Amino acid sequence: MAGSTHEAQGLVDPFGRVIRDLRISVTDRCNFRCTYCMPMEGMQWLPREAVMSFEEIERLARIFVARYGVEGIRLTGGEPTVRAHLPVLVAKLAAIEGPAGPVDLAMTTNGATLRQMAGTLRRAGLRRINISLDTLDREKFERMTRRDELERVLDGIEAAKEAGFDPVKINAVVERGVNDDEIVALARFGRERSVEVRFIEFMPLDADGHWDDGSVVGQDEIVAAIDAAYPVEQLPARGAAPADRFRYLDGAGTVGVIPTVTKPFCGDCDRVRLTAEGRFRTCLFATDEFDLLAAMRAGETDDELAARIEAAVGTKWAGHRINQVNFVRPAKSMSQIGG
Ligand code: SAM
Repeated sequence: MAGSTHEAQGLVDPFGRVIRDLRISVTDRCNFRCTYCMPMEGMQWLPREAVMSFEEIERLARIFVARYGVEGIRLTGGEPTVRAHLPVLVAKLAAIEGPAGPVDLAMTTNGATLRQMAGTLRRAGLRRINISLDTLDREKFERMTRRDELERVLDGIEAAKEAGFDPVKINAVVERGVNDDEIVALARFGRERSVEVRFIEFMPLDADGHWDDGSVVGQDEIVAAIDAAYPVEQLPARGAAPADRFRYLDGAGTVGVIPTVTKPFCGDCDRVRLTAEGRFRTCLFATDEFDLLAAMRAGETDDELAARIEAAVGTKWAGHRINQVNFVRPAKSMSQIGG
């Protein structure tokens, strides 16, 4: 595929969307068992040899960034910080240059080990960090994550700020009847700690399969709850970013909502994903995957891998079908895909 038009223009899908963001899952393993994501027991981990090595991740990342001008990479999982020697991978990826300069390297984490790791990750070249926190109540935290780790996560948020990550963003999945009574408390936490809380609508990617329409708290309801306590106004269009953002009228920062279910933003989607075992996905809800790791291990050249990537991007859907009768859940749950 060397010299193809896509190469000059970037990676463009059939609907004219330019791919600028790559999510890489570095492990399917996690030290939490969040009820909206993983089962309590019985998760089948990938065998070590099935997971991409750092060199394999770096090689694919280089194709996306250097060849196609992908601007951002976000490391995720599973829980990325449980992958041994993660800062080594961060340093390798941070060194990759695209046409627009060094890649913008970010990570999503549960935050539990950031007191130990935040400084090292920052020095290795990680630029941005999102930390998941769905409740401020210790017992509820234990029910939702099946781990008694609230204090460590709160300390991890402080450690990320002390390490110089700015902004630190908080991801909070809202599930009806579970933590929807804490929307205002979480918003207040964000205001007081100067972190941007981003509320995420619960998506049908839970391993337990208990998601249904009724468990989703939609953006309008989330914003109304916040606005009643702390008036907000919506900021101008989000572009390709997943969150709609709102400004507190009293100047105490911003808050976001990722309305995947009630206000899908697929028309602006610029994201693709690599699972920990090197499968390429063009949508979080895709039912097809493209096995780049097998191709790489079979000895394919960068041009051959690029041809596979272009062909896969050529299948990217116009949008997910969560709200349609023909929606089919992906066989994998969020932790196996890489959220
Ligand atoms: N372990 C890391 C963490 O906790 O942030 C990274 C992986 S986790 C799968 C990435 C994000 O996906 C987290 O913010 C998590 O809350 C979110 N998530 C997981 N399952 C979800 C679901 N069913 N609906 C919406 N968000 C979900």
